[in-house]
Amino acid sequence: MKLRLYNARLLPSARASLEEGELLIEDGRIVSVGKPRAGFVADRSIDCGKNLLMSGFCNAHAHAAMCLFRGVADDMTLESWLYDRIFPLEEGLTEEDVYWGTMLQLAEYVRGGITCFADMYFYPAAVLAAAQNAGLCLALCCGSNSEKEDDILADIADFYRLYSTLSDRVRYFPGVHAEYTSTESLLARVADFAAETGAPTYIHLSETLKEVGDCTVRHGGLTPPQFLHKLGYFDNGGLAAHCVYADKDDLALLRQSGVTPVVNGASNLKLASGVAPVASMLRAGMRPALGTDGTASNNAASMFREMYLYACLQKEALKDAAAVTAADALAAATEDGYRALGFAGGVLQEGMFADVVLIDLSSPSMQPLAGVRSNIVYSAGTGDVLMTIAGGKVVYERGRYFLGEPLEKIYSECAARQKRLLRRAGLCR
Ligand SMILES: [Zn+2]
Repeated sequence: MKLRLYNARLLPSARASLEEGELLIEDGRIVSVGKPRAGFVADRSIDCGKNLLMSGFCNAHAHAAMCLFRGVADDMTLESWLYDRIFPLEEGLTEEDVYWGTMLQLAEYVRGGITCFADMYFYPAAVLAAAQNAGLCLALCCGSNSEKEDDILADIADFYRLYSTLSDRVRYFPGVHAEYTSTESLLARVADFAAETGAPTYIHLSETLKEVGDCTVRHGGLTPPQFLHKLGYFDNGGLAAHCVYADKDDLALLRQSGVTPVVNGASNLKLASGVAPVASMLRAGMRPALGTDGTASNNAASMFREMYLYACLQKEALKDAAAVTAADALAAATEDGYRALGFAGGVLQEGMFADVVLIDLSSPSMQPLAGVRSNIVYSAGTGDVLMTIAGGKVVYERGRYFLGEPLEKIYSECAARQKRLLRRAGLCR
């Protein structure tokens, strides 16, 4: 499939200047940026109407199918949210629930310009099936349902074998949910698996003060990053979601190991967990990625909102309005996420994945245009996305979805499944 997107304003990368021109796409990759190419015969030519073409967003930390639990566990403490609502609901989850929940989440993703996502949840085969329907780029993380150490390790080895060689748009990161849900022996065995395979790992890290305090008590004063470092968990680098309570020493250790923090401002804010030290990360030379976390806690999957919070929470926390810039936020939401997950995307450049979003510059929130980067980060929203292209395929265009399943079916499946899970968990209202 050859696509020609012409009459566009192009933002080639987070820190680049706007240019005018066209973008050519062939077999899922960008083949030309800016200029027309002689002899290129497109299957479809799209007039972009002088609107903005830029990279699609990378949601580097989420649990897509948790969108089945959106709106059923709000305005409660983190402990109550997790133990009284989420865990009982998750006990009833089937593989089909995960498939339909992920499909609903993907609809929201493409509506908001997300073309690549990391997903840490049960039944990775169902998540993969949904992502392949829609054509989004997917990094699967962890994913075992088991509580037995041997079975978790066997699942990780199976998933790694299955998903690492499937396609250049699918990756698998071995890992576990978090230090506080794992034994030392399990973490050490995952570290051994990473050493054997050379794979980077993934984990939730230092999300709350309680998590860090409990870890130091359990492990002779070591913080979660220090403890994982000791076990060799990050010897091949990887990604660590949250890092809200990572201090300077923790950040230095993570940086030295090549670990990318994934910042989830909205989820941390709504669960009152804290504010990630983004300015310290940037000062330490790290390039954090950005994630929405699950929509049971967020509750939106909007990278626009995440970019806004990425910059603004840190400004407020440090009482310094210059602490984090719009360009920092845009880079975290695009190129730095793709880079951390090991995918060839996040910028408009020849040879990169054709993961592209068209943003409506005629929208009042995007006018006037002098500070287009600031407009994207501080004033735009998902409603300003006109079109989303993933792997060279149009997946969303002006209110129409091309996800491999009709939107009405996704909605009715999810409504029925949410009702069943609530009833099963004794949470029907
Ligand atoms: Zn999470």
